[in-house]
Amino acid sequence: MATTEGCASRPGGAQAELLAEVNRHESDRNLDLVLAEFRNYQQGILPAGPGARSLTEFFAHIDAKLDAAAAKAPKTQRSDRDVLNLLTKRAKILHLGPANYCWFTDPSRALCLKLAGTPTADRPLIGMCDSARCPQATNHPCHRPVWAEHAERTETFLGQIGTTRKTERTRLQADYDRALRVVAEIDAASTTDEDEESA
Ligand code: SF4
Repeated sequence: MATTEGCASRPGGAQAELLAEVNRHESDRNLDLVLAEFRNYQQGILPAGPGARSLTEFFAHIDAKLDAAAAKAPKTQRSDRDVLNLLTKRAKILHLGPANYCWFTDPSRALCLKLAGTPTADRPLIGMCDSARCPQATNHPCHRPVWAEHAERTETFLGQIGTTRKTERTRLQADYDRALRVVAEIDAASTTDEDEESA
């Protein structure tokens, strides 16, 4: 009986509660991730990828707001809660890809939706994500292992494939080059001045 009730999708049923709970967890997780990236930004660890500039500008805007508020009330410590309030809107449009973050600000700019022919959908199609080309995608140090592993695996395939399979080789080579480029971009964006001085 309880199980049957749990499956009921009527408003206010257990399923609605479960969904609300899942959404709450997702919102909390997204807020944590955005806060972590904002703190990274403040330490000079910047995002990479096609959407990096837009995200960096957003963080700069938030930082300036915090500075202005601190100048007005110098004795007030800005707590994480204050920062989170400013980041909440951004957290709502964050979607997690396996190798990137997707900042779904504008469906008409979503490459996955263009490819799928559904440019007005209200959610990205993560399964069709082309994060190296979509202006809403960013890469961060947490995504580096995925790209590095992908590069390594592709290099192995390239070494095994016969020279006669030209089309396959060209595709793999492009894939390999792209993975190396993403790793290099993540490294370049996350190298702080301090890192450079101690190198
Ligand atoms: S292509 Fe990727 S980054 Fe771009 S909107 Fe779709 S899921 Fe998001």
